[in-house]
Amino acid sequence: MRFELRELPPETEALRREVRAFLAGALGALPPARRAFTWSGFDPAFSRAVAARGWIGMTWPERYGGGGRSALERYVVLEEMLVAGAPVGAHWVGDRQSGPLLLRFGTEEQRRRFLPRICGGELFFCIGMSEPDSGSDLASIRARAARTRGGWIANGTKLWTTGAHLCDVMIALFRTSGGADGRHAGLSQILVDLHGPGVTVRTIRDLAGHEHFCEVVFEDAFIPDDMLVGAEGAGWDQVMAELAYERSGPERYLSCYPLLAELVRVLPDPPGERAAVAVGRQVAHLATLRQMSISVAGMLEAGRNPALEAALVKDVGGVFEQALPGVAQSLVDIEPRAGAGASDFQQVLAHCVQHAPSFSLRGGTREILRGIIARGLGLR
Ligand SMILES: Cc1cc2nc3c(=O)[nH]c(=O)nc-3n(C[C@H](O)[C@H](O)[C@H](O)COP(=O)(O)OP(=O)(O)OC[C@H]3O[C@@H](n4cnc5c(N)ncnc54)[C@H](O)[C@@H]3O)c2cc1C
Repeated sequence: MRFELRELPPETEALRREVRAFLAGALGALPPARRAFTWSGFDPAFSRAVAARGWIGMTWPERYGGGGRSALERYVVLEEMLVAGAPVGAHWVGDRQSGPLLLRFGTEEQRRRFLPRICGGELFFCIGMSEPDSGSDLASIRARAARTRGGWIANGTKLWTTGAHLCDVMIALFRTSGGADGRHAGLSQILVDLHGPGVTVRTIRDLAGHEHFCEVVFEDAFIPDDMLVGAEGAGWDQVMAELAYERSGPERYLSCYPLLAELVRVLPDPPGERAAVAVGRQVAHLATLRQMSISVAGMLEAGRNPALEAALVKDVGGVFEQALPGVAQSLVDIEPRAGAGASDFQQVLAHCVQHAPSFSLRGGTREILRGIIARGLGLR
């Protein structure tokens, strides 16, 4: 494992100013409690405004509607969006992983059909991997797509699918041959139209009362042949490649950034020594994580596979952002509280306290990531 020090090229400064100016106009007086949702906030109109600036699929080839720009430029856009608490959730998955997956494994017809619409903020994607009894042990999935004339018939259930009730397309992992004991063999990735017959989407309420993830049930759902992504039976390797994209971005340590900003606002000026030391420590962690994340973006830019480094950033980033609500509570004697009458700080704190437990689950649990890191280091 190696994190090479990368500087953001000077030309990204102009882009950063451009993104900031756009966000100042587009977000206006969006309250901090809404900004706290950051990449969980789903706002199609906002995504279309981002698309109009060319900031979705910005590293993809121009012939598919992409911007042909660098991974480091994309990093700057993501960073500014997350720091501002912009509601980027609608296009996040398509931009981060579904599009890159189609670029790598999809057919030319799939690329021409889907990528321009992702870049345009017109088509939103979700991730269909987990099932009722399969999360960490993803190879044990049971949802099955069986061959039929002209396509596949899918049956089974996907669980915890973020945004399935609002998205258009799921890239789902199905068992297409062999039994569940076949493990890694016989799995395939298939594009599923979530509005098609035989597909039922039900939202699940989380412990904070929000409905963002779903159960998706397939009952004899017909999926045409041309929706298979990559080779039949090669789904396991493709999913592993997709997870590297999923874990590689700055959202893995910036989910609670709006809380850090609110904390600094409510602390006295100048803060006491204890607060100055504690906030300084968080900012130092943040600066280090940022450097590691830029390094990952640099590796992507160089065409390398930073799966191991990305897993480390997600793990260390998760520890950082899960600890932040506790740090804030230890410095300010204000209880977290949601809803009317609560201050901005209370609402953002309440949001982060309630959502932080999920940070070490979504995108692969802490234990699984540490297993990957240990294997990468040759320790197991
Ligand atoms: C907010 C949120 C959004 C999500 N969005 C999506 C989505 O869009 N699409 C999707 O497909 N999934 C999604 N998920 C599901 C997520 O990927 C799974 O929850 C996760 O992979 C864990 O699987 P599980 O819930 O089945 O837990 P389990 O796999 O049952 O794990 C339970 C516990 O056992 C530990 N454990 C399991 N196996 C091992 C092992 N071998 N060694 C050590 N410890 C182990 C785990 O670390 C964990 O602590 C989301 C989850 C959350 C919380």
